[in-house]
Amino acid sequence: AEAQLRQAQKMEAVGQLTGGVAHDFNNLLTVIVGNLGMARRRLGEDGDNRVVQAIAGALEGARRAAALTQRLLAFSRQQPLAPEPVDANRLVSGMSDLLRRTLGEDVAIETVLAGGLWRAQADPNQLENALLNLAVNARDAMPKGGKLTIETSNTYLDEAYAVSRQEVCSGQYVAICVSDTGMGMSPDVVAKVFEPFFTTKPIGKGTGLGLSQVYGFAKQSGGHVAIYSELGQGTTVKLYLPRLRQAVIESTPSAAKPSELSLPAGRGE
Ligand code: ADP
Repeated sequence: AEAQLRQAQKMEAVGQLTGGVAHDFNNLLTVIVGNLGMARRRLGEDGDNRVVQAIAGALEGARRAAALTQRLLAFSRQQPLAPEPVDANRLVSGMSDLLRRTLGEDVAIETVLAGGLWRAQADPNQLENALLNLAVNARDAMPKGGKLTIETSNTYLDEAYAVSRQEVCSGQYVAICVSDTGMGMSPDVVAKVFEPFFTTKPIGKGTGLGLSQVYGFAKQSGGHVAIYSELGQGTTVKLYLPRLRQAVIESTPSAAKPSELSLPAGRGE
């Protein structure tokens, strides 16, 4: 629980810092892009070709920087969660076009949706965002193509699992597993993936915020996330969201057991 609190505090500090920096940086980018545009126009039709190309290169760099600051701003905004009953099967199905576009033509997508899936209690927008983050990571791990599998299931995390993970309660969860057949990760990379700003991707491509966002979302939802990966084989990310607790269950005395309090029954923080 202490490690969890530390991670949450770290995330908040990082969020504030990135938000401030990204905002100011964005203003400076506007100045850069504006002046480059003006220089380009001043050169006119028959400007020195090398200068025109240099300006085009600088503009392209500025555009990528702008895309990066947008991601950083989205990260720092960290809207409070608005949990509601979610049908994960429907949510995943609704993302099929977005996933198709994100993953490109070389990646096959398979969805395995459980029948009789429980409702989860989670913020649907942030869940979608989390799944998109996972899809982007999967795509980056499969530059030569491969397969992405999204599987939903009703899952019971038992006491042994909860104890071994120390940061999740045993109980009923809706699991959404996202697997890829990509390059995988070494154990030392797996150990660091949830840290904000940890990335192995080149500058301008990765921010190192995707999985820390997924982690923050899972924790704030009263859920859990686990990663299994093998170099050269692929990666599976398992996202566990608390099962929506029925009114009937809520009114039983056991609902007040301390071990269950971290499964939010309705309100977020
Ligand atoms: P980013 O994607 O911006 O680097 P993330 O927090 O999403 O940030 O991921 C951190 C790092 O974890 C990545 O740079 C990559 O090394 C590794 N990683 C995440 N997902 C996968 C995956 N599906 N396959 C292989 N490596 C991954």
